[in-house]
Amino acid sequence: MHCIKLLGTTEPIAVGKIICLARNYVAHAHELGNEVPSEPVLFIKPASSIIGEGEQIVIPPYSDDCHHETELALLIGRRGKNIGAEQAMELISGYGVALDMTLRDTQAKLKEKGYPWELAKGFDTACPLSNFVPASQVSDPHNLRITLDINGQRRQDGTSSCMIRRIPETLAFISQAFTLEPGDIVLTGTPAGVSRVQSGDRLEAAIEGVGTLCVGVA
Ligand code: ZN
Repeated sequence: MHCIKLLGTTEPIAVGKIICLARNYVAHAHELGNEVPSEPVLFIKPASSIIGEGEQIVIPPYSDDCHHETELALLIGRRGKNIGAEQAMELISGYGVALDMTLRDTQAKLKEKGYPWELAKGFDTACPLSNFVPASQVSDPHNLRITLDINGQRRQDGTSSCMIRRIPETLAFISQAFTLEPGDIVLTGTPAGVSRVQSGDRLEAAIEGVGTLCVGVA
């Protein structure tokens, strides 16, 4: 079982599914040469892809181009199916820092053939997560600075204010297909600045008012 911690609570929380948004920031869609989709593009990472603070990303042998994507993570605390955007924020119990590690070379091959992306985004260690802070401590999740440093050098510096689809609409959309359940996590997409990581790198992701996440690359 893969668990995360919500600060202020004692019991670890077992993670269900991790639902991720692709291309939710215009500048990131453009840096990869993608168009901005008219409907949200979703994919799922298995809970087995989670690692925590201080752990190591292990790049699978079939890839030579692993990228970081730094993202605001939502922790779902209440069940929701076919919810409206106006109820959606009530489902969120916490916010955290996530890295959506992506094998860009593998993803490019899969995209070319129209195949699913799981080999590129769902592998073991592909989802480093920080501890979560209670939702009540984050007054405006659409106004948070998101940064990533590798070996002390800044690679990503964006803000959640640039999300194309805001959180309530995203959760409402997701809940048409997937029942949101306590312990589920939603990754909201990455700002621009993604780049390759290498063995020995030290990644330090931070979201203002939410927390930090440090992991290495094996
Ligand atoms: Zn992503």
